[in-house]
Amino acid sequence: MAASGEPGRQWQEEVAAVVVVGSCMTDLVSLTPRLPKTGETIHGHKFFIGFGGKGANQCVQAARLGARASMVCKVGKGSFGNDYIENLKQNGISTEFAYQTAEAATGTASIIVNKEGQNSIVIVAGANLLLNTEDLRKAAHAIRRAKVMICQLEIPPATSLEALTMAHSSGVKTLFNPAPATADLDPRFYALSDVFCCNESETEILTGLAVSSPADAGTAALVLLERGCQVVIITLGAEGCVMLSKTEPVPKYIPTEKVKAVDTTGAGDSFVGALAFYLAYYPNLSLEEMLKRSNFIAAVSVQTAGTQSSYPYRKDLPLDLF
Ligand code: ATP
Repeated sequence: MAASGEPGRQWQEEVAAVVVVGSCMTDLVSLTPRLPKTGETIHGHKFFIGFGGKGANQCVQAARLGARASMVCKVGKGSFGNDYIENLKQNGISTEFAYQTAEAATGTASIIVNKEGQNSIVIVAGANLLLNTEDLRKAAHAIRRAKVMICQLEIPPATSLEALTMAHSSGVKTLFNPAPATADLDPRFYALSDVFCCNESETEILTGLAVSSPADAGTAALVLLERGCQVVIITLGAEGCVMLSKTEPVPKYIPTEKVKAVDTTGAGDSFVGALAFYLAYYPNLSLEEMLKRSNFIAAVSVQTAGTQSSYPYRKDLPLDLF
């Protein structure tokens, strides 16, 4: 198979198989005994900085599995932006189209987590909102030559739409993750999605249907399929996922392993990144098999704390996944 090399190796001159057009956020995490009330100052016991943003998370997971991956994104010019670009490089990701701007700060997610694990989060998307169609034009040759392109909704929707249009018109497989979801999603997103992958709460926002079982997910997936996607996947946390396609429009439930979850943050992005890897490098696998393997990889990610820090590398995974 064509997957090249271990993460970290230099391959910038080659074509990326997985291109992600999406977000980078610096996570600023404070652990506290409880969440502060309005106007209150409290003391926490631990602080750490992590790398997040749905786009970059998905790209990092694909790269750690061995994908040649490229990130099309925008960060600020300060230390957060510099550190983020270094993080992408450390993961073996091409940063040729990781732009830096002086017009806005790197996106941040300020996260407070109490001892019950509940959280309050403030996202300031910052530079992510300045990723524009001119930036895409500069990255067009990479997008058009990829095997798979992934988009989400943490950058301007017009930029995601343009990226999907570019990829779709060049026969590149599009994997769209409508997160964060809005009820009034532009209908063109459905028609431009070869694979439309969302979680339970996103599905509820998009369809207005409650999803609390694989059967509910199947019903909602049919609604999404009718809006024009080729394949719909709904992830169901510890339950696994449900798939449905134009060619086989009967919902299929793909359960996952029972594992001891430590921290499920970013599991959805691990799943999407893994799926992109399989779509790009193992196009002849059945979709069901790709999803079984993506379930497995995301289940590994929930057994360790953190987001990107919990994503497994190819060398640490069973050989039969490759
Ligand atoms: P997050 O917002 O935490 O990143 P998400 O809500 O987008 O995640 P989920 O549907 O919770 O996505 O999870 C995505 C995938 O991760 C699931 O389809 C499953 O494969 C895996 N997963 C999540 N939670 C668990 C768990 N507790 N045990 C095993 N696998 C899990």
